[in-house]
Amino acid sequence: MTDCLFCKIVNGEIPCVKVYEDEKTLAFEDINPISEGHTLIIPKRHAENLWEIPAEDLAAVHMASQKVARAIKKALNPTGIAALQLNGKGANQVVLHYHLHLVPRASGAPELPITSWELKSGDIEAIKQTGQKIASAIE
Ligand SMILES: [Zn+2]
Repeated sequence: MTDCLFCKIVNGEIPCVKVYEDEKTLAFEDINPISEGHTLIIPKRHAENLWEIPAEDLAAVHMASQKVARAIKKALNPTGIAALQLNGKGANQVVLHYHLHLVPRASGAPELPITSWELKSGDIEAIKQTGQKIASAIE
């Protein structure tokens, strides 16, 4: 897509701090990092989100994420890495080109807000009903 920021990065029209590339994917540093080493992995072929991305590109992104996560572990020795992927405006997806965030957490650094929510037991009957609704919609 011509007006897509990440397509422009793929095409070299906008520079990035590249950490990995293969035939189908590109990984680069987020310029608004939540933590040191915050890296994005994207398919080179445009797809907006998890609903649209072809299975082979989805697999390629997640296989690349393992390589990159191993490199982050080796290079930065984080205490953990959050893999985060947002779909749609309601989930605060800002760039509408599928991307997987790898967000490392360093020892002593603040909690990652995306990984710390309060655990509260849900209503099991409501959970069952919702689960059934989703299960029956699987194609
Ligand atoms: Zn794009």
